[in-house]
Amino acid sequence: MTDRLVDANRTYAGAFTDPGMDARPVLHVAVVACMDARLDLHAALGLELGDCHTIRNAGGVVTDDVIRSLTISQRKLGTRSIVLIHHTGCGLEALTEDFRTELEMEVGQRPAWAVESFRDVDQDVRQSMQRVRTSPFLLHADDVRGFVFDVRTGLLREVDPA
Ligand SMILES: [Zn+2]
Repeated sequence: MTDRLVDANRTYAGAFTDPGMDARPVLHVAVVACMDARLDLHAALGLELGDCHTIRNAGGVVTDDVIRSLTISQRKLGTRSIVLIHHTGCGLEALTEDFRTELEMEVGQRPAWAVESFRDVDQDVRQSMQRVRTSPFLLHADDVRGFVFDVRTGLLREVDPA
């Protein structure tokens, strides 16, 4: 499968011209989203190459590593706004923290990370907003908004931060 991607890259590079961009995102925005394959961030948000940072993981959870990326994004690359995107039908809703125990039983070692599973997607978005707002490392924690992307309609729904 990877060969297919590498072949596609040759085609891409054939039509590619150096846009001469700087690494600083044009829109000064960082988007944190779930890695779900049904979520095409650039298309869904009208973003172009160079517009934003995209930070993705299972669930779009604000983990320490996401804070690491956001800190670098804000302090070294000039972003100021943060958009958090979770979505309907997320795989993390089907998991529990027991997944860690199951892994431990299977491989003989418990992962250091939390699964970060959740039951209520809105509550999980609020939790993520809270983690961003309370991080001491970020320069800009005022412009943080959270959304749930509906994988069936393609629409974003904003989550009330309260
Ligand atoms: Zn997901």
